[in-house]
Amino acid sequence: AVIREFVHEMPATRVVLAAGARNNVPDEVASLAWQRVLLIGGDEPLRAVGDEIAAALGPWVGARISDTAQHVPTAAATAATATARRIAADGLVALGGGSAIGLAKAVALDTGLRILAVPTTYAGSEMTDIWGRTDGGRKTTGRDPRVRPVAVVYDVELTTGMPAGLTAVSGLNALAHCVEAAYDAQASPITRLLAVEGARLLATWLPDAVADGRELRARAEVQYGAHLAGTALGAARMGVHHSLCHILGGTFGLPHAETHAVVLPYAVAFNQTAAQAALAPLAAALDVNDVGIAATLWDLGRKVGAPRSLAEFGLTAHDAVRAARHLAEHHISNPRPVDPEGARELVLAAYHGKRPG
Ligand code: NAD
Repeated sequence: AVIREFVHEMPATRVVLAAGARNNVPDEVASLAWQRVLLIGGDEPLRAVGDEIAAALGPWVGARISDTAQHVPTAAATAATATARRIAADGLVALGGGSAIGLAKAVALDTGLRILAVPTTYAGSEMTDIWGRTDGGRKTTGRDPRVRPVAVVYDVELTTGMPAGLTAVSGLNALAHCVEAAYDAQASPITRLLAVEGARLLATWLPDAVADGRELRARAEVQYGAHLAGTALGAARMGVHHSLCHILGGTFGLPHAETHAVVLPYAVAFNQTAAQAALAPLAAALDVNDVGIAATLWDLGRKVGAPRSLAEFGLTAHDAVRAARHLAEHHISNPRPVDPEGARELVLAAYHGKRPG
């Protein structure tokens, strides 16, 4: 018999999750003993929340950078680091989705400052040690424990204003974290538990959160699912799905969460046979048999009104083939080896957007 063995790290992040928890941000800053923070995020449409948090923090805020962009342009990171140094910040407060948290991570990487994150989407970056930067059409990502936030404040009330479209694709982005963590051969059983439960919550509650964004119960379940998803991603290696989405976002400028929403069913179909055993608990959580996961995820995408093909983003077939070539050149830890032919089939399937069989 095989005796269980694994390695699992428990990173020290304090997590506060409650409706209205944004009011705790000053207490959290106080308990971190910070004197002067750089507030990152809170641009439109989150300006009012940004103003509210800035007002509550009062003189703690040495400077505020509202403007954030996807995939952290290097110039923005350099400017934000300079601001942090100029005000002699001793902490970073990031409010927003993966873009605001990503900018804070870039500053953390440069300065060693720690982050308190207040996430407003389901991207999950607040729970990971993954940073990213884009320079001249090339996205670089890496992992570093310094960028993992020390505290995270989840307030479901900050998510009720997400439009249906953003809710759908951001939720599917989180679901993709769960899927890739679940089939990572090195993920610990604890990480798998997080991934499978995250997937169950997201698949169950996302349609309700999309149908009625003001419904707090559905929003809260999806937010918790996204928290589990980010935690699982932070403890697992990323496979073919995340690698392809990074290429499509970083080099071809495709929108982050939307691209994840399109690619997910095809990444699962690609790994179906190689990852059958690892996918079985996920199938059970989604209430399908394991050959049906890809199609079920595709159906969920249609149900929540997500985009279905890469072609919809204006990507050309020529660029899809180029992206596949980039993908096959990467060294990817994935259940099924990513050879040029398989990469091409995967990207072209996502390009066309037909229901996986
Ligand atoms: P985002 O942060 O770019 O936000 C998308 C849009 O939604 C923005 O216009 C934003 O202002 C708006 N928005 C955010 N929250 C809102 C709310 N509550 N109500 C209304 N509008 C809201 O998108 P994202 O998908 O959260 O993050 C994408 C970025 O994060 C990408 O650059 C991606 O690479 C990165 N990311 C990193 C990790 C990681 O672990 N490092 C994980 C996931 C995503």
